[in-house]
Amino acid sequence: MKEKLQVMKFGGTSVGNAACIQRAAEIIAASVRDSEVVAVVSAMSGVTNRLVETAHQSETGDATAGEELATLLCKQHAEAIETLVRDHSKRADLTSETERIIEEMASLCRGTALLHELTPRALDSIASAGERLSARLLATALVELGVPGVAVEATEVIVTDGSYGQAEPLMDETRERVSQRLLPLLGEGAVPVVTGFTGATPAGKLTTLGRGGSDYSATILGAALNASEVVIWTDVDGVLSADPRLVPEARTLSEISYNEAAELAYFGAKVLHPKTLRPVAEAGIPVWIRNSFAPQQPGTKITATGHPTARGVKAITAISDVSLITVGGRGIVGLPGVAAKTFTAAANAQANVLLISQSSSGNDICFIIDSTDAARTIEKLRQAFAFDLAHQKVEHITVNSNIAIVAVVGDRMRGLPGIAGRTFSALGRRGINIIAIAQGSSEYNVSFVVEAGLMGETVQSLHSEFGLELAASRFESVETDSTLTSV
Ligand code: ADP
Ligand code: ASP
Ligand code: MG
Repeated sequence: MKEKLQVMKFGGTSVGNAACIQRAAEIIAASVRDSEVVAVVSAMSGVTNRLVETAHQSETGDATAGEELATLLCKQHAEAIETLVRDHSKRADLTSETERIIEEMASLCRGTALLHELTPRALDSIASAGERLSARLLATALVELGVPGVAVEATEVIVTDGSYGQAEPLMDETRERVSQRLLPLLGEGAVPVVTGFTGATPAGKLTTLGRGGSDYSATILGAALNASEVVIWTDVDGVLSADPRLVPEARTLSEISYNEAAELAYFGAKVLHPKTLRPVAEAGIPVWIRNSFAPQQPGTKITATGHPTARGVKAITAISDVSLITVGGRGIVGLPGVAAKTFTAAANAQANVLLISQSSSGNDICFIIDSTDAARTIEKLRQAFAFDLAHQKVEHITVNSNIAIVAVVGDRMRGLPGIAGRTFSALGRRGINIIAIAQGSSEYNVSFVVEAGLMGETVQSLHSEFGLELAASRFESVETDSTLTSV
């Protein structure tokens, strides 16, 4: 019996080609010496995007889109197989298994094209093909290294509700399946390689957990297995103080809390799926974010307390592809139930409300949702307020998609007066206009809305305002840094 059980997730770039898959297999091989390992794998980078695009193209009646993608995926995966698998019979087995999965995807696309209809269930099945292919590749690469890797479909272990495209795990059922399917494999000394991103309803219908959902798969399995830790292997050194594509001088945070990580993920830090921390936070299972391209780097550790002494601003994050919806007019002052009606309409549109704000005049209710939900939400709002619009009690329902949310994130910020003041005066000095401020900001963030074109400049300004590019040792003892509190 080994002393630890690790769940290790490898993201799309970490299995992006044969060399990356080889590196992932070596990371696992090094860990199995003193730990049991369950691997969770994403599709090779770019594959899920192509699958989703092709599904939508098929919906328009395009009968060739699925075939074209099938040819491309066969070629891409055949190249990887060629490099990774020396044994001829294993190579032949993996090739025919790969072709079978790709043909299944192509036939779903053909059906979609014939019907001119893409059901959420069909979309999930098409989108899941990438993980089914990469799990088999990684499992075989492990076997080549002498580690008994076994590909496992998440449909056998992660039980979810039936919300296609954004399914939620049913943890009791998942725990049961995990103990039936994964524990025996671990008992035999094998390394299960589970497809990320997917699950299945109790009736066995395949679901997906949402784009970027393999992180969530890893923590669902981590919680179900009561793992010692979950390690998310990606293409950056850990969670950084800002998106490195916006702020090249962003630094790796050595340790942050579940709350900080959740807040960062919620407000757009792509490194973690927004729901990642939910399954493990209660059980206190630590999550590491590490770089599969630089495994010598220590990475970021996410724990209940975060860094014991660090307080205050840790990171700046931003999210675009969001829309600001405004319901307004002088008549809404005192009109009973406007807020309730507004948010019921948003809920009926299944829109994910990211931020709520009210203008100071009280004449407007503003909220922000994912842009993909905007048209549906506006339609529901117009239905809900049809009477009030006709009688001019509600004068306008508008949508502005040219915006971004920026959030200043850190633990226990409420105890540090002046962070909001300092944030807004820094932006004021640079002439950056704030469109809306979140209402009732949590202890962990101050968030606000700016014009989309100013997102990068806003993040960069605040990153330097709070000195986040400075040595970790300095900001990690920020509690004693008086400049932070003296606005
Ligand atoms: P994977 O394919 O491994 O799941 P993702 O592309 O989903 O990786 O997430 C990693 C990327 O997240 C990084 O390459 C980086 O560009 C982006 N990112 C955005 N914000 C942050 C942040 N605060 N810290 C680290 N990475 C971030
Ligand atoms: N492959 C899926 C996606 O691209 C899931 C993931 O990578 O986490 O959304
Ligand atoms: Mg990801």
